[in-house]
Amino acid sequence: MRRCILHTGSGDKVEPLDSIKPCHWQKIQKCSQARKRQLQFSTSKYSAVISNLPEVLTANDCFHMTCYKNFTAVTATTKKEAEKKSTTTLHLRSCSSFQKVTSNTGVLPRVCTLCGKKQRRRDGKLEDVGACETDTAEMSIKEAAVALKDDAMLAKFGNINFCTKEVKYHHSCRSAYLKSADRVRQRDRPDSSDWKKSTTVAFQNLCMYISSSVIENKTAETLSIGVFQIL
Ligand SMILES: [Zn+2]
Ligand SMILES: [Zn+2]
Repeated sequence: MRRCILHTGSGDKVEPLDSIKPCHWQKIQKCSQARKRQLQFSTSKYSAVISNLPEVLTANDCFHMTCYKNFTAVTATTKKEAEKKSTTTLHLRSCSSFQKVTSNTGVLPRVCTLCGKKQRRRDGKLEDVGACETDTAEMSIKEAAVALKDDAMLAKFGNINFCTKEVKYHHSCRSAYLKSADRVRQRDRPDSSDWKKSTTVAFQNLCMYISSSVIENKTAETLSIGVFQIL
């Protein structure tokens, strides 16, 4: 019995059945591929039609022109959706393989340890991350983290070997990081607090000298000499 292979509704159509020409058949197959890629394909009304399409056409396989037109009307949006789906799965695939690489070898992702970015724009140029290749470079960063009291950095990288884990950073980020650590060290330098202590002591001595010698003994003294003698 001749039937419409693209029929979706339950009721029979009054319109006559058309026989399927090779060009129609080609388009039906092309469109069924496109529909299969659609996000909502499994729930679409065409999912049953497509799974019931014959492998080889027989004389009984026909279509209603309206059914054919509806079936082949794969809109631009659904094509876009199909593309989106394929890129999403591609993305997911690349993500999971990326995570696999990370967990298998323990190698860190290729981003800057210090700014968290892959590329950094500096003086109008894009700077890529570089690997940490020497122990000295590693030590300088770790020491800087200690000086800066960068707990997050120390918690994350304090116990790992930069070279084996392929820690990466922008060289400009590293020098900025080391520089700010230097500034902190400069500020907290022990001899700078010694200097503060000694000036306080000198000031106290001066006060004592003034009160005992100048005020109590009523001796005139020029300040510059007094300061000079005490210091
Ligand atoms: Zn039909
Ligand atoms: Zn950076």
